[in-house]
Amino acid sequence: MKNLLAGLLGALMFAYASVKAVPAATLPVHKISDHFYVIEAREDDGSNVGVLVSGTGVLLIDTMLPDAKDMLLATLATITDKPVTHVISTHGDGDHTGANTHFQNLGAEIILQANVAYSNVLYTRTYEDTLTLTFGGQTVMLYGFKSHSFEDTLIHLPQDNVIFTGDAYNEGWHPSFYSGGYEGQSAVYDKTEALADPKTLIVPGHGKLSRIEDVIHQRTLLDDWINHIKALKDAGQSYEAMAEDPQTIAFWNDFTRSADNPRGREMFVRRTLATELMDMVSLSHDQLSALEGRYLYTDGVRVEIALEDGKLFARNKGDFFSELQPLSPSIFHLRGWVGGQRFIFDTGKDGKTMGLTFVGTSNNYKARRLKNDSPH
Ligand SMILES: [Zn+2]
Repeated sequence: MKNLLAGLLGALMFAYASVKAVPAATLPVHKISDHFYVIEAREDDGSNVGVLVSGTGVLLIDTMLPDAKDMLLATLATITDKPVTHVISTHGDGDHTGANTHFQNLGAEIILQANVAYSNVLYTRTYEDTLTLTFGGQTVMLYGFKSHSFEDTLIHLPQDNVIFTGDAYNEGWHPSFYSGGYEGQSAVYDKTEALADPKTLIVPGHGKLSRIEDVIHQRTLLDDWINHIKALKDAGQSYEAMAEDPQTIAFWNDFTRSADNPRGREMFVRRTLATELMDMVSLSHDQLSALEGRYLYTDGVRVEIALEDGKLFARNKGDFFSELQPLSPSIFHLRGWVGGQRFIFDTGKDGKTMGLTFVGTSNNYKARRLKNDSPH
């Protein structure tokens, strides 16, 4: 009888649920001040979210994964009934921009660092190095970096003493500095340390709310990690052996909260090598500059090769951005890429660069150099 009743009740509840939509679950909200809140995402939801409320609207920092949209909206409704008028994305990854389209369709401004133009992520406003916004009387400072991505934004709210790092700092996970390398990662650490005091709330892209001491701890670990991996590489170890080294495992356990994860460890080893420890040759400014230009693939795709701050980049609007690191005067590694992909420049008898070949994991793609200033 008890079971029958439970079954009946269950069936009734199921029928009720299927007619009337179950309200979306909500996430934990940290109230930082009377106008500023942080929504703490769980591991599968995507990014943490900042919520700055003014008398007329809401500015959001990051919008989680697309699948978490209903939960984000339900959680927002527990904070305010004001409309979202501005979204700042710390970078373009899908786990930080999931509800951007939703809010843009409702008229919100979507703000990202300008290098987002080399991806397929939507935006309505960009900035290059820094941008200062005032929202409801609150100052919001944006600083652009190449670190985790080519379009990272560090966000500082000085009145509330809060810093959002995006994925340039994640709590409970190792640094993933594959676009900007150690230099880009260090620039983010430097800026964070310069802006923070011991009471500053550091909101990571993912993980628990942190303090500057947590960021400094990770920075120290990263220095030691890179030296460790360099020593294993110099000793001629295989990827597998490096991943199973006891000291590698100890670093992994200090960086992350995740359980033993040999594949994750090996991938971090491989990406560290592919980002920071390639055997590069040193090329002169003139040698690098001679490769600059626009190139056209047979399928119509273009790539621009550009020299900036002594580094060579390959990029295409709406599509692609990568740093190129010289392995020889003509062969270049794509920084952070672990598949062995290469750009190989073809030089004619007169010493002029005629074209380039992208060597992918399964196919090669040839491009010819376009004449400078030519529209074709
Ligand atoms: Zn992320």
